[in-house]
Amino acid sequence: MSQVQRMSRLMAKTLRDDPADAETLSHKLLVRAGYVRRTSAGIWSWLPLGKKVLDNISRVVREEMDAIGAQEVLLPALLPKEPYEASGRWDEYGDLLFRLKDRKGADYLLGPTHEEIFTQLVKDQCSSYKDLPVMLYQIQTKYRDEARPRSGVLRGREFQMKDSYSFDTTDEGLAESYALHRAAYQKIFARIGLDFRIVSAVSGAMGGSASEEFLAPAAAGEDTFVDCPNCDYAANTEAVTFTFTPPAAAVEHGPVEELDTPDTPTIETLAAHLGVPASATLKNLLVKIDGEITAVGVPGDREVDLGKLGEHLAPAVVEVVTAEDFEERPDLVRGYVGPQGLKIRYIADPRIATGTAWVTGANKPDTHARNVVAGRDFEVDDYLDVVVVEEGDPCPSCGAGLKLDRAIEIGHIFQLGRKYADTFQLDVLGQQGKPVRVTMGSYGIGVSRAVAALAEQSADDKGLCWPREIAPADVHVVAAGKALQTELALDVAEQLAAAGLRVLVDERAGVSPGVKFTDAELMGVPHIVVAGRRAAEGVVELKDRRTGEKEELPVADAVARLR
Ligand code: ATP
Ligand code: MG
Ligand code: MG
Ligand code: MG
Repeated sequence: MSQVQRMSRLMAKTLRDDPADAETLSHKLLVRAGYVRRTSAGIWSWLPLGKKVLDNISRVVREEMDAIGAQEVLLPALLPKEPYEASGRWDEYGDLLFRLKDRKGADYLLGPTHEEIFTQLVKDQCSSYKDLPVMLYQIQTKYRDEARPRSGVLRGREFQMKDSYSFDTTDEGLAESYALHRAAYQKIFARIGLDFRIVSAVSGAMGGSASEEFLAPAAAGEDTFVDCPNCDYAANTEAVTFTFTPPAAAVEHGPVEELDTPDTPTIETLAAHLGVPASATLKNLLVKIDGEITAVGVPGDREVDLGKLGEHLAPAVVEVVTAEDFEERPDLVRGYVGPQGLKIRYIADPRIATGTAWVTGANKPDTHARNVVAGRDFEVDDYLDVVVVEEGDPCPSCGAGLKLDRAIEIGHIFQLGRKYADTFQLDVLGQQGKPVRVTMGSYGIGVSRAVAALAEQSADDKGLCWPREIAPADVHVVAAGKALQTELALDVAEQLAAAGLRVLVDERAGVSPGVKFTDAELMGVPHIVVAGRRAAEGVVELKDRRTGEKEELPVADAVARLR
């Protein structure tokens, strides 16, 4: 049976003023309403009301993950360095990792995400194709030493994430696991009451291929996304646009140069054509690999050298793209001359882009200068990647004017492929008795961030305003008066609890009705019941927190209405 939580006993001190350092609405309100308290920069304590919301979101996540057949596990947050060294992320993550040493001097980290550890677990547990597919998840504390841990729990340095990983033997299997997660995420976010969009994304440090983000539109969001009003195209601008102003040296290379190149150069001949040694560091190159136009190089800030590329793609045929290729794939590249000078716009199709890629050079509208090499023709530091798509720019899919909005990234799903399986040689015995390399997906939801995202989307000028499924209580009963009102409030609270509802009752002595109403509105429980003026008749006021609609009803009717 549900219980009644008395406000007089609740650890939730409300504040009239916004915390001095708070910039976003959710940060202000979650602190003011007594849901969370700051312990250190980006490190938060969850008080009872906040913990209830967090747990409600976790419950919905668990139900939907279980429903697709994913199994819950709990892996450690304190992790040894070696697996992350093997994957390269011990270095790649740089300052983002919290690193520590044990008493013997061995290196450890606090897990920012767990691909490596799950891969090792499955390698240890699964040996045959019969053991697959398998999907595993956990709801875990994650650690990232974020550069700007602002915005309260929206961007913590310690935060809660649901992360799951799928393991399949075939590409079709991976596509199915991905589709199952995608559908589960749609259900989860709909159930917890978030307004969200699914957008194409870059895969960043995950190093995968297909990737989509779940974005919750909100002014406080740190992501900008474009949305086509005409077709279903939507993308994170991180995935869409990179704009920079190359210095004159690059411009001097003039209009698109036709390279004197054989039809299918190898990595070596390509390097020769570009005038760089095969071992040179190269940023930004559009090439055809085995007939498919793609961008190579540079996930994040890492540089990829041609030599390494050759190793990875040893059997692949790499061609320099032609003007026709651009016509074939206008979604890939568009250059234009902007108001501040020469700019290039790179539009990546996340289905094939292998991370953040910058394309070098554009000399006139809708052309692309090949043969311009970052580092050789201009300093890499000279590029600016802050200019993003403008409102009304053409949709890469249908040409209609794009809309530009801010949003919070609440979930992210990836088809990782075999990157981690290759690192850890994760094979299972296939049907034909030969080892088969496993292919993986990874899928995250920011559980603690979702609390803030919901607060952002649902709050109004009076305070928080939770959707019922995840609210810390169903009903907030206010005793507005003296002993008579308090007695009635407690009685109503008991009846509501007996009907299975989660009830908060404000029976605090010596607190004025005005303060109690303000607190109730700040805390954001969806239904408010007031035992006040007509308590003697057994009549209460039922108020909808969101609409503000009020109705006076006998207690029994109020209880029946809320059930
Ligand atoms: P962001 O772009 O906001 O930094 P991310 O792309 O680095 O997020 P992922 O690695 O995709 O994050 O992690 C999966 C999910 O975890 C994200 O979609 C987000 O909801 C959540 N998340 C990531 N970083 C944080 C953080 N610092 N605080 C709270 N939640 C986070
Ligand atoms: Mg991040
Ligand atoms: Mg992101
Ligand atoms: Mg992400």
